[in-house]
Amino acid sequence: MQQADAVTRTTQETEPTAVRIRAQRTVTYFFQTGAWPDSSSTETGLKIPYEVAFNGTVQRRVEGWPKRIVGRTRFSIRAPEGTEVSLYLNTDSLPGGRQFPVYSVTPQHNDIYVKVTERRGIQAARPVVTLDRSAVDKTTGAMTDYYSALLHGDTWASISRKYTEQEAADLIPADCDSGIRSAIMSVYRVLTQPTVIVNCATPQDRTITITFSDADNARSNIRNFDNLSDGLTRIHPIGLFALMDAARLAGVETLNITSCWRPLLGSIAHRAGIGLDVNRIGDATDSIRLNRGELIGSGPDLPWVSERERQLFRASRQSAEARRRWIAEMEANRPALFAAFRQQLQDSPHVQQLFDPWYIDSNTHDAAAPTPNDMAPGNANTHKDHLHITVNAPGIL
Ligand SMILES: [Zn+2]
Repeated sequence: MQQADAVTRTTQETEPTAVRIRAQRTVTYFFQTGAWPDSSSTETGLKIPYEVAFNGTVQRRVEGWPKRIVGRTRFSIRAPEGTEVSLYLNTDSLPGGRQFPVYSVTPQHNDIYVKVTERRGIQAARPVVTLDRSAVDKTTGAMTDYYSALLHGDTWASISRKYTEQEAADLIPADCDSGIRSAIMSVYRVLTQPTVIVNCATPQDRTITITFSDADNARSNIRNFDNLSDGLTRIHPIGLFALMDAARLAGVETLNITSCWRPLLGSIAHRAGIGLDVNRIGDATDSIRLNRGELIGSGPDLPWVSERERQLFRASRQSAEARRRWIAEMEANRPALFAAFRQQLQDSPHVQQLFDPWYIDSNTHDAAAPTPNDMAPGNANTHKDHLHITVNAPGIL
């Protein structure tokens, strides 16, 4: 084991001084994310934005530290003995956050291993780190203190930034349509009902009615959760701006947002408030359910999946030409209003990802074209019945 040494240093100005060099200890975090039945690979391998603090001061990244903490993958830090090591996670790790340090430990003579288990259900408010035992670690051969802790909904709420009206005003573009601006402000002032009406300045007389569905995942995992005050205010304001502005430009008059911020389901995008789901859009004449599950026999009968498309889809893997024919038929029946809305989102600098029943695009700013949604298990299948947008916000994905 490494021991603390006493060394003697001499400078020209001072007498020889005994300086105690503190031993370095290894602090390892292991996040067992998605510790519930049927967790997805996105959940078990969850990528969490983080910063490390020593005695409350955020540390510069050291070579070898990962870009994100990854679920079920060890993350080790070297820290001098006697240093309090803590983590800032999720949006609380970003500049302007850093209000809620978690999983703090102070190594003394031993290394430290902290296992954090992410569980669903209503749990105690504060993430408590408990010392379970001390033993020689099989991997490192060093004497190690083993701690355990929980990550639950209340913790996610603490480490997820809640935006004020002023912060929203500062984040949305300066040239934002004034009707959209006041609608966004009303969300962060906290709505009294789950609906907001946007009275656009341009074009005049265009109104967009936005309805928010209740948040089951947040409600069942956070004490006293209220979606209007605790959920909608954790949406990155640019997400609302992107959806409202695309609706304004495409002529969408109704929009149903089914999920926004939520703690214990899916990717980091929703947990960081930069993911938003829409399952229905409409205008004066049409109401479009964004669902194409019918293509694989698991959705309602809707006009945008023709019998001919179902046949062409079944044959689409046979050749490039067969695939082209399937895509042409899919395109022929795609509702024009949705196509226009999606194109606005695709062109928006504020959007990073678009997943919908027709197309999948994990980076809307790269050269690669969106991929037709073939409903393959995983991300494509998940988006057979709604549109997901991820906001282009630095430091999260
Ligand atoms: Zn989503």
